[in-house]
Formats: sequence, structure tokens, C-alpha cells
Amino acid sequence: MPEGDTVWNTARVLQRALAGARLTGSDFRVPQLAATDLTGWTVRESASRGKHLLLRLTSPADQSGRDWTLHSHLRMEGAWRAYAPGERWAARPAHLIRVVLRSPGAVAVGYHLHELALIPTAEEESLVGHLGPDLLGPNWDPDEAVRRLAAHPDETIGEALLDQRNLAGVGNLYKCEVLFLRGVSPWTPVRAVPDLAGTVGLAQRLLAANRGRWTQSTTGSLHRGQTSYVYGRRAQPCRRCGTAIRKEELGERVTYWCPACQPDR
Ligand SMILES: [Zn+2]
Repeated sequence: MPEGDTVWNTARVLQRALAGARLTGSDFRVPQLAATDLTGWTVRESASRGKHLLLRLTSPADQSGRDWTLHSHLRMEGAWRAYAPGERWAARPAHLIRVVLRSPGAVAVGYHLHELALIPTAEEESLVGHLGPDLLGPNWDPDEAVRRLAAHPDETIGEALLDQRNLAGVGNLYKCEVLFLRGVSPWTPVRAVPDLAGTVGLAQRLLAANRGRWTQSTTGSLHRGQTSYVYGRRAQPCRRCGTAIRKEELGERVTYWCPACQPDR
């Protein structure tokens, strides 16, 4: 599931594959960019902000010297892959390809991307300025994240943690796992969560621990079927108390929790 750590990893893949490279070709397969050609453009850097990817480039034709940003969002199923020239693009079916960027050393292929847009870097804030503090960003600000969460006292903590305007990077997996580890029911109103700072701090540590690998684990185990406490484990016994894990809709997403370890519904 693409959450903050996955997007951070993806930004690093693109950084290694393309940073400093002059593009030898591009192929956009979305209507809004179908006429765009990035041949000759230089990739400056790749960055992530919450769950948004920002590929910053310079254009040889742009005499103003300004940078441009190719923005993409992975949502639930998007992915970028870097291939060696000539390597088969095997990650996903071809009909899911939204963009191909070619450089002398690598080919980056974006699958099922959302919100693809090419904008002046100076205008990035128009796409990501609404985001709360980025859990994996260089300016991570836990106090500000707590302040933003606390500004929604009557919302459920399960929904507030997913709201990227409060803090950027937590998706459904980390939401479920953090709340299990804190012993807090996802339906608890924000005002009744005993230690918001502890909750936010744990979310940051869990995401940070999964940087640099593609298997997301909150348990410390990378073995298949053992990587989470509650997420994806409906009806299986809680690893702590043996109670069957439950799954229900909460807002627009499903949530998993242990009714014994996370009481107070
Ligand atoms: Zn339990």
C-alpha cells in the first residue's frame, strides 16, 4: 500500500535513476500531457512530500532559468519503476503506463499515476501546500502535527490520522497499526486520545523504520503474514490477546482493530 514510506522509497529510486540526467525521450499517456515532450530536459532531483512525488527538472528552452516540477500521486495502486535500457518493463501491464521517461542510463516508467501535472516548481505549493507536516520530510514538525490534529476534537482519531492536512504520510496500514500499538480504538474522538504526541511520534518511527525497503512491517518481522498486528488480519487472533481482529468501515476507509486491546467504542 503506497503510504509515506513507499513514496519516499519511490522518490529515492527516481533520484538514483534520473538525477542529473538529460532526458532522451518522454512519452505521456494521459490526455492533459499528451503533447508534452521532455526530450532534452535535465532532471534536477526527485523528492516526496507526504504521498506526493515531485520530480524537478529544467528545460533547455526555458530562458527564464526557472525549474519545473512533474507532480504525481500514487494513491492506492500507482507505482514508478526504473529499468535499465533494454530491460523488459515487467512490473505491471502496459495499459497501466501513464508516462515513460528515458535517459541514457535508465528508463523510468510510471504506472497508474494520478494527478500527473507539469507546473513551475515555484508553484508546487498549489499542489502540496495544504499538506500538514511530512512525517519523513526534512522539516518534520511533531508539535505542529499534534496542533492540527487537536484542532479537530470531535473527529475520530482513525479519520484524523488519514487526513493529510493534519500530517502527511500516514495511510490506512499505519493508521490501524499505530492505534493498535497505542491501545486506542479508531473510533475514539481526537479529544479523548490520551497522548496525541505519543501517537504522532510512533507513526513517524514506524514509517521511518520502513524507509529503504518495500516490505512494510510494523511488527519487526519481514516474514509473509507476520508483518502487521491488525491490518489485513480480519478474524485472525490478535497477536497480543488472541481475540479475533475485526474489520469495519470507518469514514471512507475500512479499519482493522482488536476490540479487547483497543476498547471504548
Ligand atoms: Zn488484542
